[in-house]
Amino acid sequence: MNIHELRKKIKEYADAYYNEDAPLVTDEEYDALMHELRRLEAENPEAVAPDSPTQVVGGKRVLGIPVEHKVPMLSLLDVFSDKEVKDFLNDVWASFPDAAFSVERKIDGLSLSLVYEDGVLIQASTRGDGHMGEDVTENVLALNSVPKRIETDVHHLELRGECFMSEADFERTNEEQLAAGKKLFANPRNCAAGTLRQSDPMLAAKRNLQVIIFNVQDSDADAGHTMDMNGSHWFQMDYLKQRGFVTANAFWAHEEREVLAGIEYIGNGRADLGYPIDGAVVKVDSLRQRRELGERTKSPKWAIAFKYPAEEKSTVLRNIALQT
Ligand code: NAD
Repeated sequence: MNIHELRKKIKEYADAYYNEDAPLVTDEEYDALMHELRRLEAENPEAVAPDSPTQVVGGKRVLGIPVEHKVPMLSLLDVFSDKEVKDFLNDVWASFPDAAFSVERKIDGLSLSLVYEDGVLIQASTRGDGHMGEDVTENVLALNSVPKRIETDVHHLELRGECFMSEADFERTNEEQLAAGKKLFANPRNCAAGTLRQSDPMLAAKRNLQVIIFNVQDSDADAGHTMDMNGSHWFQMDYLKQRGFVTANAFWAHEEREVLAGIEYIGNGRADLGYPIDGAVVKVDSLRQRRELGERTKSPKWAIAFKYPAEEKSTVLRNIALQT
């Protein structure tokens, strides 16, 4: 396959995954194609088109009311080895020798932005292409896992989290689909995405979609407040936990061996979680350092996603088989 054919194939798979919630290949197959495209583009930098899958975030289709993201909702750079994790840490430490890191579960769902004004949840939207998403406020208001009103003196607060479905809720939903003669979902991620995009808050609640928060995107808190945009990610997550949110941060680390141990621990426990994760995220804790490190076209320079070696994807394959 040449670079053009490869790009075309990846775009076709991405469209099915992001826009139709019906993947045509497993994530591992998709990741391998992306890896190959990155390699070819690195060899031929002049061939990198602005619309290449390596340069754009997620899907494009916005069916419902569009919502513009004031803070872009980016993707993450994938890494697959300890060596790449160490390289990332060393790059950060070259600029900030005191940098500390948060190691977290990378929940396999879909990205949400939640906006609170004076403690009241006023808007929820999907990532879309990172700049323009879709309004899903009504559906999110129906979910038990999202606080609708919080005690806070921060006027404007924008949080980012992952909306997902537990494996038990996924199995139950597919059993109901089967009984009703309806199409089965390929995996919990696609089921969560498909459910959230229907304007049916009762369905979102019935299927028990859940949300885990993993970032503060924006806040107008005064300087020195825990939630101001110069502080610590870890303290911000604590602030949110105290107000009823479930957050993704699992380990705080400032040494290489602590980061690697956190990744290993999360990987070893992933089969027992009851919900899908597709990796571990390592991110710089200091928001000031994050800002100075900046971003690439589609991912921040202050975080990476470690992908574990492929495990049996029996659920996906079984359900794809059931659909055909
Ligand atoms: P991504 O989903 O791999 O990573 C970015 C996302 O991780 C963020 O948008 C965020 O929502 C999420 N996330 C979860 N927990 C997080 C945490 N603790 N901290 C920060 N972010 C967290 O990136 P992507 O570019 O949207 O999608 C690529 C993924 O989708 C790959 O895993 C790929 O295999 C899969 N994919 C599969 C197919 C297919 O056909 N099977 C097609 C397209 C994409």
